[in-house]
Amino acid sequence: MIIDSHVHVGVPPREAEPKNFLKLMNTSKINKAIIFRYFYDKPTVFSNQYISSVVEQFPNNYLGFAWINPNEKTVTKELIESVTKWNLKGVKLHLEMHPTPLEKLRKIFNIAEQYTIPICIHLGNDFDQIELLTQEYDVKVIIAHLGTGVYCLDINRLKKAIELAKNKNVFLETSGNTYPLVDYALKALNPTKLIMGSDFPHEHPLVSVKIIELLNISDKNKDLILQKNISKILEI
Ligand SMILES: [Zn+2]
Repeated sequence: MIIDSHVHVGVPPREAEPKNFLKLMNTSKINKAIIFRYFYDKPTVFSNQYISSVVEQFPNNYLGFAWINPNEKTVTKELIESVTKWNLKGVKLHLEMHPTPLEKLRKIFNIAEQYTIPICIHLGNDFDQIELLTQEYDVKVIIAHLGTGVYCLDINRLKKAIELAKNKNVFLETSGNTYPLVDYALKALNPTKLIMGSDFPHEHPLVSVKIIELLNISDKNKDLILQKNISKILEI
């Protein structure tokens, strides 16, 4: 069993068509994927409803997260509906794209705690805010791209993310990084703290799986990173 925990579906771009990723899952032996959309020209509510419909169409393969902008006025209602009406199982924040003041982030953490959903975060320069929030709320936090960004490979950002991941509720997701950075994170933490993601269509998912398979750890520990850690967070 392999779960890809960071996948974008939705056209454009053309290759991010849900059926196309299903084919790649097949060739990469991936059983399930956590999907969210990109931001595009329409309000996020359309993206979240779209993701919900894709999950409904392929319930065995896909599990959806809402993607929201915490600065928007309607965000509280939208996030609650994403969970209660549209069957989405988590929320994705892109804080590099949408820097957000602490008070607004508290609202999101509050809902996540209330509905027991994880928050996946693409970090901007918000390490201190997130550290504080993970102390204030009992919410599982998945730091996308090991905190470094997409192929930015910044070791100083990785070191800060490793500090965040010392909190029991914080996990690091591996997409957008090369083998040496994933290996560095593994050596600084342990296999229970890492989660495999590809960030498709920015990467072929099999490349991301192979990085984990190449790590010098037991098959049992690889299994934690490839699926058990995320399964436990999502209770699936
Ligand atoms: Zn992404």
